[in-house]
Amino acid sequence: MKEVKCEYCQTWTDGNLEKCQHCDGILYEDRIKELASRDIDSGTVPIIKINPDDSLPIKGGKHFLRIGQLIFMSIISTIAAIASSTVH
Ligand SMILES: [Zn+2]
Repeated sequence: MKEVKCEYCQTWTDGNLEKCQHCDGILYEDRIKELASRDIDSGTVPIIKINPDDSLPIKGGKHFLRIGQLIFMSIISTIAAIASSTVH
């Protein structure tokens, strides 16, 4: 078992869990945030990139597609959140 020290209550807890067994604090909050921001930066999230050299109609089309994509992804993540909160 991998043990990590909880940054909230300074108690050693099971590192395989997302939350501290003692105080319910999130163990990897910083890492989760870092990974989330890295995903956006590295473009692993498939958002359409707008090339500055693209002509205006293409830019407009890409903007439109990207907005649609963002709405689609937010719907998916909302569904995922609902599913994970109702299924136990
Ligand atoms: Zn704790």
